Amino acid sequence: MRVRFWGTRGSMPVSLTWLDLRDRLAQALVLAQGKPLDTMEKAVSFVERELDFSVSHTFGGHSSCVEFETGADAYFVCDMGSGARPFGAHVLARQAGRPALINVFMSHMHWDHIMGFPFFGPAYAPGCRIRMYGCHPELEHALRRQQDPPSFPVPFSQLGARIEFIRLVPGETREVDGVRVTPNLQFHSGDSYGFRFEHGGRSFVYNTDSEHKLDDNRETQRIVEFFRGADLVIFDAMYSLAEAVSVKADWGHSSNVVGVELCQMAGAKKLALFHHEPANDDAAITRILKDARRLEELTRQARKLEVIAAYDGLEIDL
Ligand SMILES: [Zn+2]
Ligand SMILES: [Zn+2]
Repeated sequence: MRVRFWGTRGSMPVSLTWLDLRDRLAQALVLAQGKPLDTMEKAVSFVERELDFSVSHTFGGHSSCVEFETGADAYFVCDMGSGARPFGAHVLARQAGRPALINVFMSHMHWDHIMGFPFFGPAYAPGCRIRMYGCHPELEHALRRQQDPPSFPVPFSQLGARIEFIRLVPGETREVDGVRVTPNLQFHSGDSYGFRFEHGGRSFVYNTDSEHKLDDNRETQRIVEFFRGADLVIFDAMYSLAEAVSVKADWGHSSNVVGVELCQMAGAKKLALFHHEPANDDAAITRILKDARRLEELTRQARKLEVIAAYDGLEIDL
């Protein structure tokens, strides 16, 4: 499976400011001193090989939207945050006029997870089929309502695609176009659901908008079993541990530290920090990532857990 991140920011999309851009350009120019970068090719190679992530990249960007490919014709995607707009453009370009079948797995209906749907190109394309999977009975209502007047000019009923809503049951595994999917109830305002996907002997867990307190043994064990042996866990690490246990306790999100602990207990192979706090700039997210890696090193047991921070455009082959 290939996992592709189209939106990795939590709660609200963000973009770099002109000051961020100015500083990055200035840093790059200083570092490029004396190098013969007289063609685009040489300059791109310099950027890719010699600049730090904090200068050459940025953590997203768009709100939650994560695609995965299995080699089948059908598309698979988790959540319709603002990342659904570029994902939709990608689908339409790749299909080149052929109708697409898109399976969408919805964690919950908070605005940052549905806001991209009115801008999702395939929804307007006659012949396209979109299957919306989720555990909330109000899913269809939430998606229709956000396009009602006066909030949006095109009502849901005028969308060209064939859109179906399919209710999943937490804890029950179902096969969707060759992928086994199991939803899991999570602690979050209005409830949210994580998904475990399995295909071709590989597995990954999409676990966003979920608070784990680790003070209830049975609940911790339930989550650990859900993560058990996963090749990748995409984890809501919106806060640092200090924030998660103090001012932001009960806000329905988790921290980098809890992510490391749960993944270690579950024997997961890779942890992707996700749903980044919109107030955090790239330097703050880099610090959260470094702290998580340091903790993993200090507490490592038999096997290394690889820790990364997801960014828009990141692809991971499982
Ligand atoms: Zn969210
Ligand atoms: Zn939420």
